[in-house]
Amino acid sequence: MELKSLNFPSDNPRPFIIAGPCSAETEEQVMTTAKQLAKKGCHMFRAGVWKPRTKPGGFEGHGEPALPWLKQVKEETGMLVATEVATPEHVELALKYGVDILWIGARTTANPFAVQALADALKGVDNPVLVKNPVNPDLELWIGALERINNAGVKRLGAIHRGFSSYDKKIYRNLPMWQIPIELHRRIPDMPICCDPSHIGGRRDLIAPLCQQALDMGMDGLIVESHCNPDAAWSDASQQVTPDILDYILSILVIREKVITTENIIALRKQIDEIDDSLIDLLAKRMRISREIGQYKKEHSMTIIQASRYNEILQKRGAQGSLMGIGAECIKEIFETIHEESVRQQVEVMKQEA
Ligand code: PEP
Ligand code: MN
Repeated sequence: MELKSLNFPSDNPRPFIIAGPCSAETEEQVMTTAKQLAKKGCHMFRAGVWKPRTKPGGFEGHGEPALPWLKQVKEETGMLVATEVATPEHVELALKYGVDILWIGARTTANPFAVQALADALKGVDNPVLVKNPVNPDLELWIGALERINNAGVKRLGAIHRGFSSYDKKIYRNLPMWQIPIELHRRIPDMPICCDPSHIGGRRDLIAPLCQQALDMGMDGLIVESHCNPDAAWSDASQQVTPDILDYILSILVIREKVITTENIIALRKQIDEIDDSLIDLLAKRMRISREIGQYKKEHSMTIIQASRYNEILQKRGAQGSLMGIGAECIKEIFETIHEESVRQQVEVMKQEA
């Protein structure tokens, strides 16, 4: 894929920062937030004008009437302004009002028809376009969307990593699955990728650690939701921070000089950490099911140890491990330990008063 750099202002150091509220709510909220951010040295302002909400009833954005506010931000602060576009009509309107940077939201990226319609509308457009990852962890779908936009002649392309939806909500609103943006960088090395810690974390207190993690992974920029009065935000209130707090978060980030590649040990260790997190989640899930089985055995007066089932697990998993390059003995030991803990938990269930 042939790519030009995003051409963000050259005095903008790495990481480049895009900040602003989730949604443009009122002229006053937009202008107050923008002025505070500009005072902190921010060069790029984001605000959603069209808001795809998961459920009806949420604030879906003012649409065109909010675009003059972005124009005013540009004129009064000199910041570049960015907004989400989801349809050709959005593209046309955003450009009409002088929006500098367009981004494609996660729900739109997941739909190739919608992305193609946007690509067609973007023919001949020189503005930078940032493509958020699709809601589902599908790297090819993400790259496909980037290719569609690139094929339309848009050369100033970038990607936004905003995490991936999962049925099981854990600490994060969206699972980061860092290996996916890392692989995207390996596949398209010259394209800037920025991280959206607000939508990954879904919580204010996770923004700082996620920003640091993103920089450690070699991300080129950050797009962070910032609002002059986060508690009163009309959308995504729990994940927005004031410009003051954002400035503090950015001031404590450690920016490592070295170019980080997939070979880099920090990035690899982060991947291991993420896999270990998943392993523990899975083990906890297995134990929960095991306790339910314990309850069933109790109600049906069965013994805890069912030797045939235990042997079946050890044999089946040992063979599976060998096929995947893990020693059968190691797998046997791991499953013996897991089984031992399962039995201990079932004994606890048996001991509980009915
Ligand atoms: C947003 O940036 O406010 C937004 C709606 O993000 P996403 O498309 O990542 O959900
Ligand atoms: Mn948001």
